[in-house]
Amino acid sequence: MADHDVDLFVIGGGSGGVRAARIAAQHGARVMLAEEYRLGGTCVIRGCVPKKLLVYAARFRGEFEDAAGYGWTLPQPSFDWPTLIANKDREIARLEAAYTATLQKAGVAVVKSRAVLKDIHTVALANGERVRAATILISTGGAPSYGDNIAGLEHAISSNEAFHLPELPRRVVIQGGGYIAVEFAGIFAGLGSHVTLVYRGENILRGFDDDVRHHVRVEMEKHGIRVVTGRKVAAIERSGAHFVAQLSGGNQIPADCVMFAVGRLPNIAKLGLKEAGVALAGNGGIAVDAFSRTSIANIYAVGDVTNRVNLTPVAIREGHAFADTVFGGTPTAVDHTNVPTAVFSDPEVGVVGLTETQARAALPRTDIYKAMFRPLKATLSGRDTAVLLKLVVDGLNDRVVGCHVVGEGAAEMIQLAAVAVKMHASKADFDATVALHPTAAEELVTMRTRSASYARQAAE
Ligand code: NDP
Repeated sequence: MADHDVDLFVIGGGSGGVRAARIAAQHGARVMLAEEYRLGGTCVIRGCVPKKLLVYAARFRGEFEDAAGYGWTLPQPSFDWPTLIANKDREIARLEAAYTATLQKAGVAVVKSRAVLKDIHTVALANGERVRAATILISTGGAPSYGDNIAGLEHAISSNEAFHLPELPRRVVIQGGGYIAVEFAGIFAGLGSHVTLVYRGENILRGFDDDVRHHVRVEMEKHGIRVVTGRKVAAIERSGAHFVAQLSGGNQIPADCVMFAVGRLPNIAKLGLKEAGVALAGNGGIAVDAFSRTSIANIYAVGDVTNRVNLTPVAIREGHAFADTVFGGTPTAVDHTNVPTAVFSDPEVGVVGLTETQARAALPRTDIYKAMFRPLKATLSGRDTAVLLKLVVDGLNDRVVGCHVVGEGAAEMIQLAAVAVKMHASKADFDATVALHPTAAEELVTMRTRSASYARQAAE
């Protein structure tokens, strides 16, 4: 390794890259990490963490409304967007500093610069300096896509800008029906904006269980969010300080802000991938094997740039596994099955495992258990809302292969239910667990009556 300046060069200081750099350094590697923007990546700087802070802010509205039924009289609450954004920015700066300190403590050299591959062992920094590395890890993440090149696209913002708007828009049009669109619809509506969600398909949250999708939409509409399906934003016109979103099919929606949340694309451009011979996969990300190794033996890639399962904890796992594999002497493949996921919409969604549709296609027999009920808290508040819990069970061996929750605390519930699903718990194991009363989660262990049972149809 003498002809190399470092053992590992990491391009990108997000969740996956930071974890990989730290663990590799702890295994004794000489590590350098380059980040062109801010350490922490999408999750910390303009994703999960600031988003969840905004979600908390938005949920106070419901709490204030519900308080009356419990005897509270409150003065008319008012909300100040600049205060929220400033406080959020302070917390993000604190986290970024903590990431920096962690890397320094581990002995990782951090350079604030763009880095591109020059050949399979050489990385060039923005100042022209070149670094020779035995191993290179690409962890450059992803960036918002804007979809079709429509007229007035320059007026649309993505989630990146949504975190820094100078003021809360009074009327927001959001295009998209995935995680980000649905989460920001809840955020803006909770903070007081009039929100219209425009989704091109039949129903939002494609890929989630159909009962979950239906339930979320109904509950979002109860919160005053207008959901327009089967339409796209075909053009955005500027009208003074405001905008008009022209929908396919002819409708026009006036707005103070038009946000697009139509997916994210791997950050692969101008990285020197072609020059180094790093191959791409059909999904548009960098092609990797189970150990995150690319088509070039000493170059690896983890996280959203590989477009496998684009979630922070997965990128962290991949980064850690890479470091253990290459520098820790422990080859570790990441298991991408039964990864729990949550949508921090209003109401919240938490899921792990198969949807009903997936199970019915994959299993000879599928049993479904469902509970939908008014949560206890809503009795005194008078809120019109319902919680949905659903278990998808392999009808042949009784294993719970899917667990789906919509309602307050869904994400917290699913993190724990995911342990049981990962351990292949059976429906009988769930039933043998004593309920914790009174909770919403107790329904997961008290559902005794099958709501449906399906035999797989023979292929035609
Ligand atoms: P998603 O892939 O979740 O959703 C994209 C949405 O945009 C879909 O509804 C899609 O429709 C729609 N769409 C795509 N292209 C177009 C187009 N050209 N015109 C109109 N609509 C279009 O992406 P997001 O941007 O919401 O989020 C990106 C990823 O980030 C997520 O998939 C997830 O991996 C991650 N994430 C995770 C979060 C969490 O864990 N809580 C939170 C936020 C993001 P269709 O369904 O028809 O394809």
